[in-house]
Amino acid sequence: MNESGELFQRARALIPGGVNSPVRAFGAVGGTPLFFREGRGSRLIDVEGREYIDLVGSWGPLILGHAHPDVVEAVTAAARCGTSFGAPTRAEVELAEEIVGRMPSVEMVRLVSSGTEAAMSAARLARGFTGRDRTIKFAGCYHGHFDAFLIQAGSGALTFGVPSSPGVPAAVASTTFLAAYNDLGGVEELFERHGSEIASVIVEPVAGNMGTVPPAAGFLEGLREVTARYGAILIFDEVMTGFRVARGGAQERYGVMPDLTVMGKVVGGGLPLGAFGGRAEILRQLAPEGPVYQAGTLSGNPLATAAGLATLRALGGDGVYQDLEAKGERLQAGLERAVSSSGVTGVVQRVGSMMTLFFAEGPIRSMESLRSLDPSVYARFFHAMLRRGVYLPPSQYEAFFVSLAHSSGDIDRIAQAAAEALAEI
Ligand SMILES: *Cc1c(COP(=O)(O)O)cnc(C)c1O
Repeated sequence: MNESGELFQRARALIPGGVNSPVRAFGAVGGTPLFFREGRGSRLIDVEGREYIDLVGSWGPLILGHAHPDVVEAVTAAARCGTSFGAPTRAEVELAEEIVGRMPSVEMVRLVSSGTEAAMSAARLARGFTGRDRTIKFAGCYHGHFDAFLIQAGSGALTFGVPSSPGVPAAVASTTFLAAYNDLGGVEELFERHGSEIASVIVEPVAGNMGTVPPAAGFLEGLREVTARYGAILIFDEVMTGFRVARGGAQERYGVMPDLTVMGKVVGGGLPLGAFGGRAEILRQLAPEGPVYQAGTLSGNPLATAAGLATLRALGGDGVYQDLEAKGERLQAGLERAVSSSGVTGVVQRVGSMMTLFFAEGPIRSMESLRSLDPSVYARFFHAMLRRGVYLPPSQYEAFFVSLAHSSGDIDRIAQAAAEALAEI
């Protein structure tokens, strides 16, 4: 048995499934998860010293690649000054300024420690602000693992065939209405019947947790219009898209302004940090300024804040997002060439530096379009790529993330590996 296998065996006796987050377990692709000891730029190195080009990027945060020198230096410097004070710091103000300066609809922001926490808090704030209890979410969108949103919640749930989870009270689940992604008519209908009860609509403005599914023309605009008409809050969950698909996230890219925005991943630069923000009038309802309670011992933690600040500042240059777009385009083109010359049915869906190769007829517009997809094709592709030194997400229903650390050479190597892998499977 190799070292990863040994570690996994020990882990399974101690940690449920051997992992601290379900999709890491290779459940959808089979085999034993790799244990890693190091990340450097575009590369991951496993415990046996094998090197992989990484397209997971810690599931989104590592837009600069692994161990970017600015981030390492910022975190090291912060650690030397103490890891947590439970009191305000200058860096929190600076990070808030960075976020507000980028996200067009965000006037005020609060820092938390994860995307889950940010989404949960934003949903509560929307309830508190409107005095209503219900939320509309879309099948295949993921907003973290808290009760009210753990309903047809994308990748993890899709992968494991668990549409929701035991332990979620029926009463809580029933506060959430489910709609189909890219189906404005369904949302209109819910509002016609329940408009006075709906506090918010939460959406991934580009869905990433059922694989990459862009918003159809008019979808986000339509959500903006219908929520405004009924006095409900529009929440963009930009945990994945924020600071990635454009400097100011999907709201900038598509020109649609939500009332509240949920952030995570890139904003924490690889450390545990999330944020939610939006219109000042709404954010001022939060304790201690207003009555809606929300708090956190490690919120705005100095190390996480330092990593986030260093990351956003490194994303400051004009050319950065064009560069990400170009790298994304190059990978998409390479994957598409590999698919078409192999004769395997597949489609690449991409927005900027996030993309998914679906082994299905495109376009994928919602969970409905995924029904006939056979995930075993991806499982074989995943392992064939792994053998060629490319680390992909171990599930069909995830995005590949290109980072600024990926060179053209890396991208061409991935495309070459894909061509060989597709010929083999
Ligand atoms: C990853 C993700 C979350 C959850 O963030 P965590 O930091 O894992 O809690 C929420 N929403 C979206 C869109 C995500 O991609």
